[in-house]
Amino acid sequence: MKPFEYLEPTTVSEACALLKKGGGEARVFAGGALMTILMKEGLLEPKTLINIKRISGLKGIDFHPQEGLAIGALVTHHELETSGIVKEKLPILCAVEKDVANIRVRSMATVGGNLASGEPLTDLPQVFIALDARIKIASSSGERVMPLEDLYVDYYQTRLAGDEIVTQVIVPPVPERTGIEYIRFSSSSVVDKPCVGVATRISLGPQRLCQTVRIVLGCVGPTPLRAKKAEALVAGKPLDPKLAEEAGAVATGECSPVSDLRGSERYKRAVVGVLVRRALAQAYESASRS
Ligand SMILES: Cc1cc2nc3c(=O)[nH]c(=O)nc-3n(C[C@H](O)[C@H](O)[C@H](O)COP(=O)(O)OP(=O)(O)OC[C@H]3O[C@@H](n4cnc5c(N)ncnc54)[C@H](O)[C@@H]3O)c2cc1C
Repeated sequence: MKPFEYLEPTTVSEACALLKKGGGEARVFAGGALMTILMKEGLLEPKTLINIKRISGLKGIDFHPQEGLAIGALVTHHELETSGIVKEKLPILCAVEKDVANIRVRSMATVGGNLASGEPLTDLPQVFIALDARIKIASSSGERVMPLEDLYVDYYQTRLAGDEIVTQVIVPPVPERTGIEYIRFSSSSVVDKPCVGVATRISLGPQRLCQTVRIVLGCVGPTPLRAKKAEALVAGKPLDPKLAEEAGAVATGECSPVSDLRGSERYKRAVVGVLVRRALAQAYESASRS
């Protein structure tokens, strides 16, 4: 590993100023789960590493009735998994976290790092996108808020500028009669990153019609993506097994998986079809029960 300067700012503005000063040669270091690997392998050689872990303003989880759930960027996977407030307000997030990596990674890696890295084989982005989450971003010139869905550009590429830090994820309150489901498929029996991950959300209107539909596919393209044609097919209708199957078939055509050691392109498309069908059916059922 090449030598680098190591800094530990204690405020967001200090960290952003240091990033700006670094002019593209400085990188944020949070839990280090990904950064450590990239640097050890020589794939990334930053001149300056800015460890943000001492910034207390990036920690903690809050709930506001109007704004929703606000999750600090430094919240670890394990903290999200075991949070009482998250269990009460959005238990799906705790359930998703149980299958993320292993306890060692979950204890160090952060939610902000998971979302900001643009890593393609992750679980959280598709779930947060299905929940219409937004991210708060700070830079040396101020703050902006962006729908998480708009963050991603390509494999490991996001719309974050060089001096920007994700500070918070905000999940708006979920309407009544909403079902949320996430199904991840991992092709290995050992703990592994997902091969395919599908998140669905259905909010019901009158006569159990699907009023709001989100179908978000993960790991089957350079970025997480909404299967908008499949969503449009389901919206405004009651869901039955035939419609769920049709939506699954449509979604298979909306993704762009690549063949790799987790499965061939054809196999992954087939998995998408099955998972979309199942996740829609389960979300519809739980929305109907609530
Ligand atoms: C063995 C292993 C298994 C894994 N399995 C899973 C899995 O099953 N599901 C899953 O979802 N993920 C999985 N991951 C991914 C893991 O969750 C992410 O790598 C991790 O969340 C990154 O967070 P971090 O805090 O460690 O980020 P770091 O490694 O510190 O940083 C990662 C990247 O994000 C940037 N960054 C970090 N925080 C911020 C911020 N607040 N603002 C702006 N940029 C930032 C860094 O500059 C860097 O480019 C796995 C990782 C490993 C190593």
